Amino acid sequence: RAKETGKARCVVYSARQSGPPEHDISLEAAMFEAVREGEFLLYYQPIVDARTRQIQGFETLMRWKHPTLGMVPPVRFIPIAETNGLINLLGAWALKAACVQLKQFEEAARRKLYISVNISPRQFRSDKFLDVLDDALAFSGLGGEQLVLEITEGTLMVDPAHAEALLNRMAERRARIAIDDFGTGYSSLAYLKRFPISVLKVDRAFVKDLPDSPKDGAICNAVLDLAKHLGLSVVAEGVETEDQLNYLEQRGCEFVQGYLTGKPMPAHVAMAALTEDLYTALLPTDRRAGNP
Ligand code: C2E
Ligand code: MG
Ligand code: MG
Ligand code: MG
Repeated sequence: RAKETGKARCVVYSARQSGPPEHDISLEAAMFEAVREGEFLLYYQPIVDARTRQIQGFETLMRWKHPTLGMVPPVRFIPIAETNGLINLLGAWALKAACVQLKQFEEAARRKLYISVNISPRQFRSDKFLDVLDDALAFSGLGGEQLVLEITEGTLMVDPAHAEALLNRMAERRARIAIDDFGTGYSSLAYLKRFPISVLKVDRAFVKDLPDSPKDGAICNAVLDLAKHLGLSVVAEGVETEDQLNYLEQRGCEFVQGYLTGKPMPAHVAMAALTEDLYTALLPTDRRAGNP
């Protein structure tokens, strides 16, 4: 109780996702203001080669820095934006800004990188999405092959015929499709055959208890095997420990993303990570990039 009182000032805004609707309305009102005030920003989390730990690309993760609430996590504001349609605006901005940012990352790193951007179900349904995509690529000058669009199984399943058509349009632009949170959705594996998918992102739920959990180990191995035979690449999400990374790497997982190899960070920090090679500097020399 005392704990709750201490947080009372935030209560108006800080409804849990299942909380009373009037709380969400305050947050929703604040979101429109946040758009006007420019309170949304993008963080970038490194996606690294599991063996060398060299950064291959970044996932773009949206943040909302409210003047009094502080950082509002995406699990709180994305569902609201999804409901009221603001996600189309925020998502279009994120995609364009991320493409522009990648150009700067590449200049700093002096090599090719890629950028991975989350696309919500509503954006995916929007008939404007291809225009948004083309605008982001044209404006930034980025090649489509440097862009990964992350969608969930749920997004595909809403309307598989629409999904197939849209994914084919994306593939024409050479953008790659990643299935985010792979293994957590309600769907059949048949879509892996039907749709032009390039990447599976293994959900953190299957990684967090590695290497001790035999069941999670079995699931990760099965996904890696499946991906290998289908010619897909795998990114393991939520890797927090050396043991998890070693387990995954030894079983053929090529790419990892998690707090161990880099938390989501502002662009200027990501830039420093690229130039200073922060993550590889601590590795034994035989595992650094450039050494087979
Ligand atoms: P996601 O796309 O699956 O993103 C991965 C989430 O895992 C991120 O949470 C990231 O910060 C977190 N994460 C990464 N490594 C670790 C780790 O080692 N341990 C733990 N515990 N967590 C880790 P975040 O940034 O809070 O985002 C949550 C979700 O919000 C995302 O899940 C995505 O579904 C959604 N989201 C974020 N940004 C955007 C966006 O720009 N557009 C859309 N549509 N959705 C977004
Ligand atoms: Mg994602
Ligand atoms: Mg994910
Ligand atoms: Mg996830």
